[in-house]
Amino acid sequence: MTRRTKILATLGPATDKPGVLESILEAGVNVVRINFSHGSEEEHLERVKAVREWAHVNNTYIGVLMDLQGPKIRIASFKDGIKIDLKNGDTFVLDADQDKLLGNQKSVGIAYKTLPQEVKPGNILILDDGKIVLEVSSIEGNKINTVVTQGGVLSDKKGINLRGGGLSANALTEKDKKDIFTAAKANADYVALSFPVSGDDVRETKALLIEAGCKAGVISKIERAESLKEETIQDIINESAGIMVARGDLGVEIGDAQLPAQQKRLIRMARSNDRIVITATQMLESMIENPIPTRAEVFDVANAVLDGTDAVMLSAETAAGSYPRNAVLTMAEVCEEAEKNPIAKVSHHRLNEKFSDIDETIAMSAMYAANHLGVKVVAALTETGKTAMWMSRISSDVSIYAMSDSVQTLRKVTLYRGVYPCGIDKDTGSDWSDVNQKVIDTLTKNGVVKDGDLVVLTKGMYKDKSGGTNMMKILHVGDNEY
Ligand code: PGA
Ligand code: MN
Repeated sequence: MTRRTKILATLGPATDKPGVLESILEAGVNVVRINFSHGSEEEHLERVKAVREWAHVNNTYIGVLMDLQGPKIRIASFKDGIKIDLKNGDTFVLDADQDKLLGNQKSVGIAYKTLPQEVKPGNILILDDGKIVLEVSSIEGNKINTVVTQGGVLSDKKGINLRGGGLSANALTEKDKKDIFTAAKANADYVALSFPVSGDDVRETKALLIEAGCKAGVISKIERAESLKEETIQDIINESAGIMVARGDLGVEIGDAQLPAQQKRLIRMARSNDRIVITATQMLESMIENPIPTRAEVFDVANAVLDGTDAVMLSAETAAGSYPRNAVLTMAEVCEEAEKNPIAKVSHHRLNEKFSDIDETIAMSAMYAANHLGVKVVAALTETGKTAMWMSRISSDVSIYAMSDSVQTLRKVTLYRGVYPCGIDKDTGSDWSDVNQKVIDTLTKNGVVKDGDLVVLTKGMYKDKSGGTNMMKILHVGDNEY
């Protein structure tokens, strides 16, 4: 196991075909994404079950992230499902009063009824992820009159974004609130929150998760222009288990040209706050139809790795593409190669900072030792995965084994860069110090270490105490006593 960057793959119709799910998991997917924007509860639960069964049979851990749809604003449908062709200079009306099935060449309905009250003349509306651009010329009651400034073919239910952001739609819709219960039923490891505008949205989501009895961590998708303000993004990151650089909607709101700089900023902020970060959308877009990527896509994946992302995500490439397995294999290979670059291995994290906790200090010291002594692996005995999270913020090429008897923790760490889940039976009878022997035995049995290797081990004084890591020991595999 040499790849540190994790692969998050979206499931969908393409992975429902016989043998495909197994083929992408086997190719190296670490976490699957279930998209609540498509499919029924039954389908979602069925997919989660299939993933868990595969993981069980293959004696491994696969994380499950369930992605709430959020308030995606869309046009309604066209009469008889036709497509219309908008030309530059055409006038086109978005009409909140129009029947939702009667769109035509001149106008179409909208599900988000307050849109006419929230836009003003001069605003730029972007449809279908940037393919069509409309400039608002006037508002007449519930009608938004626009002029087409970038034409194209438009079909049913395409998304609408406002350049610059600022729409007031709540992050959590009624559907999202229901879907949280499905996530609880599925025992999801992560729930992704779409379009949060503030830390309050994350706090509300966490409260709903608790109410539903769901232990999932919240991944906040950064995809609204206004969430990028310094204090806002800081609050969102603090409240979340991690963030997703959701380049699709974010790019439409702020303009694609601003994305690379924002991606770097968001990855840096998440890492320095000990949070997960996922880079998403169009990473290998051309592989939806082609067995090989474009060279620009290879660079994009590699650059995300060099920026320090924990995970790279596949959307339609796996969910609806013709080459899901190739997409995963390509991503895996590109990540592994990028990780060989020295800048992916050298860390300046916390170099000039004070640590606030003993367990964090142990985690940092372990990585310092590992990076300088040339050890085979770091083994962190962990209840919640926190120690492994701290360790994984340090760039390194030493593998970090999160050793736990909590399946929930083992599945959570599947998203952490450089961290590998390793189940261990921590029961050592009366003498907790015997756990050292158990760690070495478990790692040896799994083929991770052999006689002569060095292992940096961290643990706490007591077996099940969380937040209690206060010891580090360097073990020489093959010695008589640990
Ligand atoms: P989506 O989110 O695919 O759910 O829209 C990702 C993005 O906007 O980039
Ligand atoms: Mn989105």
